[in-house]
Amino acid sequence: MKAHEGMYIGGRWRPARGQDTIAVVNPADEQVIGHVPAGTAEDVDAAVHAARAAFPGWAATPPAGRAARIAALRDVLAARKDEIAETVTAELGSPPPLSQAVHAGVPVLVAGSYAELAASYSFEEELGNSTVLLEPVGVVGAITPWNYPLHQIVAKVAPALAAGCTVVLKPAEDTPLTAQLFAEAVEEAGLPDGVFNLVTGLGPVAGQALAEHEGVDLVSFTGSTAVGRQIGATAGAAVKRVALELGGKSANVILPGADLAKAVNVGVANVMSNSGQTCSAWTRMLVDAERYEEAVALAAAAVAKYVPGERVGPLVNAKQQARVRGYIEKGVAEGARLVAGGPEAPRERGYYVSPTVLADVTPEMTVAQEEIFGPVLCVLRYEDTEDALRIANGTVYGLAGAVWAADDAEAVAFARRMDTGQVDINGGRFNPLAPFGGYKQSGVGRELGPHGLAEYLQTKSLQF
Ligand code: NAP
Ligand code: MG
Repeated sequence: MKAHEGMYIGGRWRPARGQDTIAVVNPADEQVIGHVPAGTAEDVDAAVHAARAAFPGWAATPPAGRAARIAALRDVLAARKDEIAETVTAELGSPPPLSQAVHAGVPVLVAGSYAELAASYSFEEELGNSTVLLEPVGVVGAITPWNYPLHQIVAKVAPALAAGCTVVLKPAEDTPLTAQLFAEAVEEAGLPDGVFNLVTGLGPVAGQALAEHEGVDLVSFTGSTAVGRQIGATAGAAVKRVALELGGKSANVILPGADLAKAVNVGVANVMSNSGQTCSAWTRMLVDAERYEEAVALAAAAVAKYVPGERVGPLVNAKQQARVRGYIEKGVAEGARLVAGGPEAPRERGYYVSPTVLADVTPEMTVAQEEIFGPVLCVLRYEDTEDALRIANGTVYGLAGAVWAADDAEAVAFARRMDTGQVDINGGRFNPLAPFGGYKQSGVGRELGPHGLAEYLQTKSLQF
């Protein structure tokens, strides 16, 4: 795999200040596929200065000009789709069809949506005797995870650029090669020097230096709750804007009148995709007592189609593999019934976990409360609609969810009472313009579409 030895700062690849490197590992075969520099606080400082210097010019570029550059970036991402998909497969381990359709495909859609929004958004509004100006926040520090390596980057960088902000990105240490490809795409798209900057490195070093840097006006973070809390506290102390996307424990609520086979099959596909490493995955399936055993049998049958090494890839690293296997053991120890998969590794090499279904899961169990982030589905039983709602809302998270019912009206009535940021109604389709983000401890702020753009704007009112 191609790897750059430097950092992309101020429009060129510059040598890192320190000597340390990060080895990038293919989780499917545990082989080292490249090395990238481990950035230091000095690299972060250089990148923030470059972003600061580029900010006035980019902020003053008319929206149509910014839109043209984002459209060019979308075109480069589209033209280099195969290379992106191969890189994501190599460093994340996702099966090639998933890498093509989702990991390489969705960022093209999202970049395209922001090329259009930059051109059409009202950056000025009239309100009584005031004119309200929507101005870019400034320099954005973006810290991203490995689960959707390119999507997580584009979901922050594209709206930031559309708003007129400049960016310093610290991507996950497990997936830096995709981030380097993105930096190449930025260069090829002709964005002005310093508008986008990349510092690869470790979270507690480069990530923390970025979150703490006084030249950063907004920190946008996606990842674990533990790190998110820390970043929120740091940003609060410095009185700077922060956006946090911290994962979930979403419910797939199957109401009594729903098409059970469809709801279970779509639900299983949702959880198993990307080896379960999706923050919005519907990892808790809620079924009424009457159809419970039928649903469990359907889920076990559906999961059997997800063969490790074929339709389902490994987890990203050995630590995540051990963590997920630990959760499966804990679920069984707390009384869940194993109906598919289990804690044993299904392959000798690679960080694989068997696609697993746990039945008889009750709401207070650890596996029903904590984010597992692996191919593990928990099936819970409810007595009536009120009980289903209590269970669905009974975690600290509130990122996503699904409701299936005899008709949309019934599903919508239930969805209105869910404490969560996004709900798919009877198998609704993905919409790249829909706001994405959490209620409760799933986070602060929204990504995607016009709501995602608004995160990068601040308002100034002029009175006449
Ligand atoms: P993480 O440590 O929170 O990683 C997210 C990003 O934050 C990475 O770029 C990471 O760098 C960086 N980071 C780590 N410590 C930091 C610090 N002190 N200051 C600033 N940045 C820091 O998450 P993880 O360890 O990869 O995954 C652990 C769990 O988080 C998963 O099992 C899952 O439950 C959850 N998770 C959620 C999402 C989501 O989409 N919401 C995504 C991934 C993981 P490094 O890569 O160097 O650690
Ligand atoms: Mg980490």
